[in-house]
Amino acid sequence: MISDGSKMTGLMLQNGKLEVQTDLHLPQPPDQEVLVKVRMAGVCETDLQLVQGYMNYEGILGHEFVGVPATGKFAGRRVAADINCCTLEDCPYCPENRHHCPNRSVIGILNRPGAFAEYLSVPEENLFLVPESISDERAVFIEPLAAALQVLEQTAISAQSNVVVMGDGRLGYLTAQVVASTGAKLLVVGKHKEKLRRFQNCHIETVTLEKLERTRSYDFVIDCTGSITGLPLALQLVRPQGTVVMKTTVAEPYQIDMSQIIIDELKIIGSRCGPFPRAIDALAENEIEVESLITSRFPLAEAKTALEAASQKNQHKVLISIDTQS
Ligand SMILES: [Zn+2]
Repeated sequence: MISDGSKMTGLMLQNGKLEVQTDLHLPQPPDQEVLVKVRMAGVCETDLQLVQGYMNYEGILGHEFVGVPATGKFAGRRVAADINCCTLEDCPYCPENRHHCPNRSVIGILNRPGAFAEYLSVPEENLFLVPESISDERAVFIEPLAAALQVLEQTAISAQSNVVVMGDGRLGYLTAQVVASTGAKLLVVGKHKEKLRRFQNCHIETVTLEKLERTRSYDFVIDCTGSITGLPLALQLVRPQGTVVMKTTVAEPYQIDMSQIIIDELKIIGSRCGPFPRAIDALAENEIEVESLITSRFPLAEAKTALEAASQKNQHKVLISIDTQS
């Protein structure tokens, strides 16, 4: 696909429009960064939100990927990358608080080109080696699984907890499996009977939205709906002094009545990126099922079609195959 040594193909988002471009400049990594050749990438709900205007991002999309660095300590080996990057020398926030560093850029989301391209530049300290036991297709799930695992970093969910995961999509499926691993009593709420079947295959109890009893009885309610309607519903399910974990990012602003949060002394926790090492271990140990989420695969040249496909209701994880040969 590479025409000569200095140009590459990638999926650009510009003025709200997606276009595969074949004459993009090859990234020139600064000091501390390495050129990574992308093998495979996954389309995320966030990518679809970015197309709708979330974060006002323009540039190459894509942040879930597995690739091979051309140089550095991991040269020639497969890696995944934490998407929060800081290149400031002696940054007072990093590396401990890189996920919240005010100086950060975020791969394919904020001030940094993404992975729906043949190459991208990544700070070497963001890279994590992918063990041989994790295939490319599974490795694409490291980033979203880390985000799902962040729920356990932020809450005290245990075998004694009564938990609802709202949403039967990709993030809901990963988050539900993560919560189930704690032994908590878990219920998954979804709109789609066929999507809920996947959870049932993992022995997770499910209910359709119309049959859901809105009793304020759950210790933890995790919103993975990807919809602005998620939070108001979560507030109808959480018990007084309970916790709502918000994993939904939407471009529109919320309009909710805050009084219940105060009267019931609720905790509302925002939750975003999570621990890569833990996600890599969980995939290497086969603790989390991801293959059934993959519904289609596209080559990079058809990346625009891939994003359109990912927004269809019957699709789960759409993969973009870039270079799995080398
Ligand atoms: Zn920093």
